[in-house]
Amino acid sequence: MGLDIHTAEIRGVIVHVDALMGLSHCCQPAQCAGKGSCCGAYEVHVAPRELTSIIGLMKEARTLSRRLQDEEVFEEAEDGLVLGSDDDGVCVFAYRSRNGQMLCALHSLALKHGIEPGAVKPKSCLLWPLTLSQGPPRHLSTIDDAFDWPCNGPRPAGATGLDDGVAAIVAAVFGKPFLRDLQDICSQRSYTGQYESDVAAPQPADPDGA
Ligand code: SF4
Repeated sequence: MGLDIHTAEIRGVIVHVDALMGLSHCCQPAQCAGKGSCCGAYEVHVAPRELTSIIGLMKEARTLSRRLQDEEVFEEAEDGLVLGSDDDGVCVFAYRSRNGQMLCALHSLALKHGIEPGAVKPKSCLLWPLTLSQGPPRHLSTIDDAFDWPCNGPRPAGATGLDDGVAAIVAAVFGKPFLRDLQDICSQRSYTGQYESDVAAPQPADPDGA
């Protein structure tokens, strides 16, 4: 698929600019209290190079998440390793805080130890609710069901730039130079409000791709 008015190429990645401009995102675990969470809705692929940091936190993570005591930590999928989950599909690293918030043991332990969460969490978790296809070429877009989650919302036609939450994800996964390039492109347009499927649906996130 070639580029169209909704997309731009940045450093070899086809970015679905309108999809990203049309999304606002703010992770607030309190919104998941007593409800489902993104940590129980998707298969999380793990790249081989992500294993070491995850395994290094396993002992402490077990004190937070009981699922890590009852379930396999990693499972084989057709296209590589994925994080284990319980019978309800909830990730083994997810746990409920005392006030019912759904939290990530890897994220919590990273903060406890003064590490960037991005250094220990799988890339597909960092990307959510964005998605990166395996390619080539790789496509960066938003997940199909983004607006089903209370932490995501649509932006109105005419919105400019990127939402801060979306910009933070792009910077964390692709780096600030990539984000600058994307923001330059966004500064020359406003959101059309018409991001439709004349672009191919993204493939599942590739944790090795970013
Ligand atoms: S690793 Fe953490 S962020 Fe990713 S699905 Fe599991 S609990 Fe959620």
